Formats: sequence, structure tokens, C-alpha cells
Amino acid sequence: MSIVGKLKAFGDLALNFFRKPVTVDESYGFTAENFRWLPRRNADLCTGCGACNERCSSGATSLTDADGERTVSIDGLRCIFCGRCADVCPERALELTLEPKKEGETDTGRVSLSHGSEEPRPTVDTKLKLQKCRICGEYMPVTEKYVAVVRDRTLKNLKPETAAIVEKDMEKYLTVCVNCRRKYSIEWDTHPRKFI
Ligand code: SF4
Ligand code: SF4
Repeated sequence: MSIVGKLKAFGDLALNFFRKPVTVDESYGFTAENFRWLPRRNADLCTGCGACNERCSSGATSLTDADGERTVSIDGLRCIFCGRCADVCPERALELTLEPKKEGETDTGRVSLSHGSEEPRPTVDTKLKLQKCRICGEYMPVTEKYVAVVRDRTLKNLKPETAAIVEKDMEKYLTVCVNCRRKYSIEWDTHPRKFI
């Protein structure tokens, strides 16, 4: 490098001591203004359908069925805030937040950070009751709320006389698990062979 080049580089270096930083120093849990953060789920709207779980590309979402309940979760440490879950949610129950944490979001456990301290592990959990099979009483892999929403929306779009007939069938079939359907399909005359 020529003498002139060296002097210029030295001048730039000296100037940098007086320049403002161009990046923002952020601690975990604090975000810059307008930073897009975790999706927030409106538990009143969520039916536990699982569409968000199918779509998440970073493995941040999960559906867990246990003890008659479905838990729909978003793990804040895996989420990359892409918003795909919010795009596919049929109930418009998800919305990307601008704040780190809101009412209804919980901390399940704590995470160790590289510098040795611990922070809450942010998650967004919604719990919904699973539907029981009306025949055998086993829990089905679908929520009560989802079944109710399907029933109501289907009936809403039918003429009253048709709705009355369909409603009877829905009561009969909608809350029956796969095993009982197989068992009773011939007796009920709903075996798939009938439609072939
Ligand atoms: S948030 Fe939306 S997509 Fe996800 S389970 Fe609830 S209703 Fe379904
Ligand atoms: S915002 Fe993106 S990464 Fe985060 S939970 Fe939704 S789909 Fe997954």
C-alpha cells in the first residue's frame, strides 16, 4: 500500500473512534423498535386444527395430545418469525407481535445462555379439550372445538330442510373414532364399498 493509502486508512480508523455504532446492542428478551417477534395466538379463535404445525419450516410449532387435551405450542427459541403459521391459520388466530411477550404466553422452563446466565424460555401455548368417541369413549385426535366449528359452519351454509337431515347424520358420525367407524360401517351402511 502506498504512503497515501496508508494515511487514508489511518484517517478512517481514527474517525471510526468518533462514529456512532451502526448496530444495536440487544440483550436477550429486549427488541429494537418494530422488530417482528413471536406470533401471538388468540386462544378464543384457535380450534387446534394443526395447520400452523404443518406449515412451520423451523420446527418451532408442536401439537401434543395427552390426558384428554391438545396443546398447541410455539417455541420462541426455534421460531424465525417468518409468519407462515399466521398466513395459513384458517381462523386468523395468529398474529406476529412487536412485543416479546403478551398475556396468554407462558414461560415453560428456563434456558441457559452462552454467557452463563439463565432466561425464561418463551413459548406460546394454547390448550384445548380433545373430542371423545361417543361409542368407545376413547379420545380422538381432534379437538371438541374443531368438531363444533365444522358442524356449525357446515349447517350454516345449508337450507333449513337439508340442514335438519345433515345435522342428524353429523351427530351420528362426527364424533365416532376411526376404530368404531370401521366396526360399525357395514351396520350403518356407510362402508366405502357402497360408494364405489
Ligand atoms: S393457531 Fe390457527 S392454524 Fe394453529 S391450531 Fe390454532 S386455528 Fe389451527
Ligand atoms: S413464525 Fe415461522 S418459524 Fe415461527 S412458528 Fe410461525 S411458521 Fe414457525
